[in-house]
Amino acid sequence: MLSDENLERYARQAIMPEIGEDGQERLLASRMLVVGAGGLGSPVLFYLAATGVGRLTVMDGESVELSNLNRQILHTTASIGSRKVAQAAAAVAALNPGIEVTPLATRVEDDNVDDLLAAHDVVIDCSDNVDTRYRIGDAAHRTGTPLVFGGAVRSEGQLSVFHSGPGGAAGTPCYRCVFPDMPDARQAPGCSEAGILGPVTGVIGTLQALAAVRLILGLGGAQTGKLVLFDGRQGSFMEISTSRRDGCGCCGG
Ligand SMILES: [Zn+2]
Repeated sequence: MLSDENLERYARQAIMPEIGEDGQERLLASRMLVVGAGGLGSPVLFYLAATGVGRLTVMDGESVELSNLNRQILHTTASIGSRKVAQAAAAVAALNPGIEVTPLATRVEDDNVDDLLAAHDVVIDCSDNVDTRYRIGDAAHRTGTPLVFGGAVRSEGQLSVFHSGPGGAAGTPCYRCVFPDMPDARQAPGCSEAGILGPVTGVIGTLQALAAVRLILGLGGAQTGKLVLFDGRQGSFMEISTSRRDGCGCCGG
């Protein structure tokens, strides 16, 4: 049963027949890990908190810089120099004090990634470096944790949902099936070298939050097996099918 306050806070969702009080309670009981409190993590955390995801863990080892603020809307000019996770937790708590936020001012490493993912229902990759992405992708497969991947650079974005491994959707690709080769920095420049148009991270991050909520609610059927590409210059989307790859270094062995 939702409390009176929660009935009112989440009224516009709980009134929808496909969500209802049951769906809202499932969201409130869910645990999500958000890796990165930057351009993608900002809309992800705001929307997950507002929607009523009950327990959020946010990881980021960096501090707020002035050049983050064209897109990282969790942070403010006054928070320059402070830890991103501290600022993120404060912003989220101001929006919705009824949920639990755990800030971890650290990076995902080989020796903590499996335990972290196994302790959450969904992991949302909002990181900005390839090492972390592959580490999360491989661990998501090993632990069978649903992974919502998002990326944005310049005016382009990508989104995909993976759920392979134990308890996952059989026959669907893992992260490494779709992105087999770890690119070097020159092939895949990050935002600091190539630039990023602020609202593009808003589009992709918002889609990541929606995908994570859909996973908990079971809305709209399977989300795996496709890669969504967003062209921010045109404001247009394209969807391509993805599939499992024989000999994949992660799931094909
Ligand atoms: Zn694979």
